Amino acid sequence: VAAPAPQAEAILQQRDSHFAAVQEHYYDDPPQIERGWREFLIDTRANVYVDVVNNVATTGHAHPHLTRAAQRQWSLLNTNSRFHYAGSAALSQRLAALAPDGLDQVFLVNSGSEAVDLALRLAMTATGRARMLAAREAYHGWTIGSDAVTSSLGDNPRAMESRPAWVELMDAPNQIRGTHRGPDSAAAYLSDLDDQLAAIDTDQIAGVILEPIFGNGGGVALPDGYLAGVYERVRALGGVCISDEVQVGYGRTGHYFWGFEQQSVVPDIITVAKSMGNGQPLGAVVTTAAIAEAFAAEGSFFSSAGGSPVSCAIGMAVLDVMEREQLQHNALVVGDHFRTELQRLADRHQAIGAVHGFGLYLGVELVTDRESFTPATDLATDVCESLLREGCIVQATGDGHNVLKIKPPLVVTADSVDFVVAAIDRVLTRLSD
Ligand code: PMP
Repeated sequence: VAAPAPQAEAILQQRDSHFAAVQEHYYDDPPQIERGWREFLIDTRANVYVDVVNNVATTGHAHPHLTRAAQRQWSLLNTNSRFHYAGSAALSQRLAALAPDGLDQVFLVNSGSEAVDLALRLAMTATGRARMLAAREAYHGWTIGSDAVTSSLGDNPRAMESRPAWVELMDAPNQIRGTHRGPDSAAAYLSDLDDQLAAIDTDQIAGVILEPIFGNGGGVALPDGYLAGVYERVRALGGVCISDEVQVGYGRTGHYFWGFEQQSVVPDIITVAKSMGNGQPLGAVVTTAAIAEAFAAEGSFFSSAGGSPVSCAIGMAVLDVMEREQLQHNALVVGDHFRTELQRLADRHQAIGAVHGFGLYLGVELVTDRESFTPATDLATDVCESLLREGCIVQATGDGHNVLKIKPPLVVTADSVDFVVAAIDRVLTRLSD
């Protein structure tokens, strides 16, 4: 990989001047990406990278079917969802068919944060209550509501000091590095939750929001039975259960279309975004008729561009491609191959403490030693920088910023996986062995 082109540096300076700096960019010295194709990104110097981080570009970059669908719909009509057009009807019906029985009411919005915000409002209006349970270390979005239930320190180091009073945070159910460890740790987490609930006024609990697989921890499975236990408790209190599928849902885990299937539960409200629009601003909330109808107490719901004709055309095209190219199946087969190869690396490199995840939502947890499981934060940063030079775009997640996120477009091939695994192998040999 050559040094960045002078023009790329000038554009970076321009960005630093006016694109408010809190909107961070990947890498200190980032390549200027000009185009994408399938699981590849190409910079202005014609360097090609495997995009291992992009769980938004589900169908891959620049998919011709999506390009045509967007172009066609833009040339015909784009307007707001109060008009009667075919797209919102078709996409809502298709999403309802993908959701479990009974969850057949769809709201179309523009992002994951909006979907989460709306889900919280739905829970509150349906129950007439004002407080929400959420897990520590989770990320749910940037709007005032979705940020309130977000406490991942990787995103906001001061998160624990600034949560509003209506949010009741539960322990992070991380079976790898949490308070209780191992696949059988659900009972211990649930017992702690019982103690916590006994100590607060539960009359105001409207519900719970959880990711069904711990996305921010790098795809860590919740302990078996954890979600069922939480849902049972919340429903006994009269609350409703939100599954935030923005990151881990929509076929990415290969084994399941929805993440909650892994825990054998059915939520009352589902939030989805990212992959749904393959980068087009598109998200949805799927819920029951009773919950959707209760929202009438708030008046009506309207989002100007949410579920626009263009967004719906792209949303339909994404599902077409997923079906035609069997992308969930690819996530299963290629994802399992990826996991096996990463596990093989873990057998040889002490720095790998654990490999998490399902399908094409995987995490490689780097630790300073396997006894203390201390996050190898600096190593993770160096590994990501070195992988860029090897032609792989990989980033770290987690409160310790030490878990390599493995979530490429679902079209990724076994050949690309082998290329990435060989690069991780070389980099770890150089930096940690
Ligand atoms: N929920 C989860 C689990 C997410 O990972 C994210 C985004 N990382 C969001 C919600 C917010 O989505 P968006 O960035 O589309 O607003």
